[in-house]
Amino acid sequence: MENDIQESKIACTFEDFGLAPAILDGVKAAGYVTPTPIQVDAIPAVLAGKDVIGQAQTGTGKTAAFALPAMSRIKNNKNVEILVLCPTRELATQVADEMFTLGRFAGVKTVPVVGGQHLFRQVELINRGAQVVVATPGRLMDHLREGRLKGFAPSIVILDEADEMLDMGFIDDIRDLLKQLPENRQTLLFSATMPPAIRSLANEFMKDPVHIKLNTHQQANTDIEQRLHVVRADEKENALLRIIDVEDPAKALIFCRTKRDVDEVTEKLLARGIAARGIHGDMGQPQRNQTVELLKSGQIKIVIATDVAARGLDIRGVTHVINYHVPDNRERYVHRIGRTGRAGELGIAITLASAGDLRHNDCFDKKYAPDFKVSAVPRRDAALAKRGLAMAETIKAVEISRDWHAAVEELLANVPTEDLVAKMFSLLMGKRKVVGEDQIGMPKEQAERILMGSGSQGGGGRPPFGRKPFGSKRPFQDRRPNGGSSGSRPFRDNNRERSFGGDRQGDSRGPARSGDRPAFRPSYANRDGQAPRGPSSDRPFREKRREFQPAPNLN
Ligand code: AMP
Repeated sequence: MENDIQESKIACTFEDFGLAPAILDGVKAAGYVTPTPIQVDAIPAVLAGKDVIGQAQTGTGKTAAFALPAMSRIKNNKNVEILVLCPTRELATQVADEMFTLGRFAGVKTVPVVGGQHLFRQVELINRGAQVVVATPGRLMDHLREGRLKGFAPSIVILDEADEMLDMGFIDDIRDLLKQLPENRQTLLFSATMPPAIRSLANEFMKDPVHIKLNTHQQANTDIEQRLHVVRADEKENALLRIIDVEDPAKALIFCRTKRDVDEVTEKLLARGIAARGIHGDMGQPQRNQTVELLKSGQIKIVIATDVAARGLDIRGVTHVINYHVPDNRERYVHRIGRTGRAGELGIAITLASAGDLRHNDCFDKKYAPDFKVSAVPRRDAALAKRGLAMAETIKAVEISRDWHAAVEELLANVPTEDLVAKMFSLLMGKRKVVGEDQIGMPKEQAERILMGSGSQGGGGRPPFGRKPFGSKRPFQDRRPNGGSSGSRPFRDNNRERSFGGDRQGDSRGPARSGDRPAFRPSYANRDGQAPRGPSSDRPFREKRREFQPAPNLN
């Protein structure tokens, strides 16, 4: 029935595919040099007019994999010839942007059709001779039901992130739509996973599709270093601040479970003088776009998001993904961390999990354990050293004002130079405290034991006798820059500028149910297994709400 292609290993160039010359100009303008594996397999099949199922996650170059050959097949008859359906406005806008870049030399006109924009303006743009419509199902169905799109009969229909559309409840709209479209169309379906409902959609509406399996959804991109810290719920806030201090990420996405969590974490970071913004479904589209732009342009370094709000975000150069709350399942985990390590760059994914998460969440199933680099949260002195160095750099860059000449002379006359520098440094750094205990989170060995001895199938907290030591095979570590080969990375793009520089809270508070006792008493907990009551700054967000300071101005 389906023609299965496992990921192709044949190296080739974009010129080898037989794409339209003007489309190749778009490829050059986008700066793509080498086709990605999904492009290698999908482009010839789409050019040959075949239906294609592409099983690939975001970050693999799947947009160009369908956009390039589909646009090469445009006949330019002044009607909509290509329809791309996307689950979210953000993704639709990004796909439309990419299709504009790739298709502009071929004169391809692309119109995004998403909610939150003027209805009739969209219709007007389409009627002016657009060949490509990139839409969310809801808004497109509105137009079709009201009969606003006369003669709408695209000959190529692309379902992008089909599993997300299923999750968001669009499946019936998609079915209705596909029934209305010409039967002799070409249908392409891209999805990270293939749940039964997507398989049956494909069986019903696709003709003898070529099935390209790039990667299973459970396999994370090996360009991502996956770190794991085991912390209690009440340690997370300080753990996050410590990590931000030590990592000093150029661009980080922090994932939280709920909108409220996003607000709380954002507030907390802002109160510490860290330029961060939250993004979630209660925010209007302009505000969400503005946040994405601020991160893209480097004006802020940190965005905190829910899973839903982060769908479809393609921000170049995300160096760190931080799971402040563990996602519900492995698929979400892979999806989240796939925001970094894109297009051949290396990325870092840091997960803050409780001991309970390690036992009950399939993100930490035993078979994935070797992928994780487990450690305690960096210690206080690591954070202090990092801050000190950062401050030293700032001081070196300061322009000297002669206005203070007299005071400087006076100090130099009375205080030895070394003491003087140390005093001034202390004065400056005094304002920027490193909060939290020296050791935050469970020590490495203890956390590794739980990870190896549990996972969703594992049950208990201790490894069986005689198990091999953890971490004997860590794919990432040997592959750091200068340290290992880059040959097995999916693709590399030297011409482009890249700036790579559920936490169930109860689980971590001790035995919630009988039979679910933790196999350890964390050495960093008090005798009764509770969180040590540190200074007020060590308490979790909720307890500290009243103490929040007003957010500093980001500009
Ligand atoms: P996607 O999987 O479509 O979300 O693409 C991920 C990122 O890779 C996007 O930023 C694309 O612009 C970029 N990209 C796609 N194809 C290539 C390629 N052949 N070379 C370099 N970058 C690419």
